[in-house]
Amino acid sequence: MAHSQFVNSPRSFVADAIRGLVAATDDLAWHPDPGYLTRRAPLTPGRVAVLSGGGSGHEPMHAGFIGRGMLAGACPGLVFTSPNALQIDAATRAVDAGAGVVHVVKNYTGDVLNFRIAADLAREHGVAVEHVLVADDVASDKGTDESGEAVGPGMRGTAATIAVEKVCGASAARGDELAAVAALGRRVADGARSMAVALRPCTLPGAEEPSFDLPEGQIEIGIGIHGERGTERRDAMRAHELVPLLADRVLDALPPADDDRLIAIVNGLGATHPLELQLLYGELHEHLAHRGLVVARAIVGSFTTALDMAGASITLIRCDDEILELWDADTDAPAWPNAPSRRVHTAGSAGAAAPPSGGGAAPGDESAGGASATDGPDVRPTGFGAVGEWLGAWAGRVIDEEPALTRLDRQAGDGDFGTNMVAALDTLDLDALRTASSPERAFTAVSDAYLGHAGGTSGALFGVWFRRLAGAAGATAGSGPAGFTVADLARGARSGLDAITALGGAQPGDKTMIDALDPAVRALEEGVGNASSPATVLSSAADAAARGAESTAGITARRGRASYIGEAARGVIDPGALVMAWLFEEAARAA
Ligand code: ADP
Ligand code: MG
Repeated sequence: MAHSQFVNSPRSFVADAIRGLVAATDDLAWHPDPGYLTRRAPLTPGRVAVLSGGGSGHEPMHAGFIGRGMLAGACPGLVFTSPNALQIDAATRAVDAGAGVVHVVKNYTGDVLNFRIAADLAREHGVAVEHVLVADDVASDKGTDESGEAVGPGMRGTAATIAVEKVCGASAARGDELAAVAALGRRVADGARSMAVALRPCTLPGAEEPSFDLPEGQIEIGIGIHGERGTERRDAMRAHELVPLLADRVLDALPPADDDRLIAIVNGLGATHPLELQLLYGELHEHLAHRGLVVARAIVGSFTTALDMAGASITLIRCDDEILELWDADTDAPAWPNAPSRRVHTAGSAGAAAPPSGGGAAPGDESAGGASATDGPDVRPTGFGAVGEWLGAWAGRVIDEEPALTRLDRQAGDGDFGTNMVAALDTLDLDALRTASSPERAFTAVSDAYLGHAGGTSGALFGVWFRRLAGAAGATAGSGPAGFTVADLARGARSGLDAITALGGAQPGDKTMIDALDPAVRALEEGVGNASSPATVLSSAADAAARGAESTAGITARRGRASYIGEAARGVIDPGALVMAWLFEEAARAA
């Protein structure tokens, strides 16, 4: 299907859009390095600041909700990719007015990891941070295990996020302290559930194809906001059948107590007309009235979108008097409906209208320039080839294979993996990397590129992985001129694997990069233990990693965004595992 968007270049898409946003408003400032938005008007000293952020493509969330009475700032990532930890740390410190910062975080591994790392960094600078996680999407609920822990990454965060941002923002504005603002946010998040349906998939800027195929006459139920497939495909149905189906799943998941009142959000996903959204709300209102439920407040519009996806979500939130008061409080945030209902007409009135006569950056931030790996003492690695040549060859290969990686992540995840890799690796000067003066510097340059220029799950995890390899190389350089050996690699790789496991919680068999790393690390340790030659050790690690990566095709994902689409990703190799396997393959080649 031919598809067109307004773009200059897919690369500068987010940065170009932010330029327009800032130019059209008077209370927004963009800080391109490292990439975050704040209000121009400073927060009253002593007030709590509410900060959010996430991948772009969900506009007007989050930037549109920056303003008096809502967010103090937001960190946009690239399209469908979480911002990185350095962006969030800088934004956190910038918006803090002395009373601390509440992070409103949608539940996606990449967002959770990067916000967690950033909170630690900000605390080191004396800023108090609280974290409110939004996890409202019923379709992604995989239940809990024996210990009560969510299976997989837990429910996705979707349109309930704007309700959390509203209530936290109003609570902060009236002078509540940090813990109280966060507690209110958690109360809203805990009492909110959503369910979405797509009539048409979205298309990423510059992509040739939509994010999944949806045959004419079919709809996809249980979709998320990143263009991933849903949980169920059905024949198209009428709105008065579809709305009860979605609403009942939301109500089952809540479920509201008899005297609970509800806030309802009917949210367009990007390409659905306001008239259709009104129609959906009419059906929802009637259906809830039938079930004896009282809608205290409603907003209808496109707030949390998935690029140009046609479809809608329904969010219901249990509320009490305090939440309603904060919901009703004034805000200047441009995307908040400036006349939200103060109350909703009671049962039956929605159906009473007679028909009218006549029938029916990191956002564009290239300013830091190429990370240089050339200065410093010349310590040539002696273990196997040059670390710089190895990393340079690997990075070049990953950049060349971007389209294939993007295709894999589109089939099994959300399609941002390839661009995320390139966002990091393109900032490296590959020639400088190839002739890097020390292994530690080479690893550090790659780690910095990931932590400072990529977002998403992979940005955080690859950044931490290379940081641990740099640590292993640094320990060696300090103890003598021996360079980097396979024993150092085994040590660094074990430490990197431990760090990735601690951060992301994935185990072998979850269909992630761990499936390549775990066998590779074990092969390295075994080879080093047997005192095999470096070439032998590296080639057995490369084989083990490649087999591990291939094995991911046969697995259903339990972690990362691929887990949301379950069985549909079977047969697709995990792109993170593949890129890790290439790293060991290039190491063997360099030996
Ligand atoms: P997302 O779109 O989910 O933010 P990316 O597209 O940046 O993530 O990265 C996806 C890759 O991250 C996957 O291919 C997988 O290898 C890896 N991954 C996802 N979740 C985890 C986890 N919990 N632990 C380790 N690796 C993970
Ligand atoms: Mg992805």
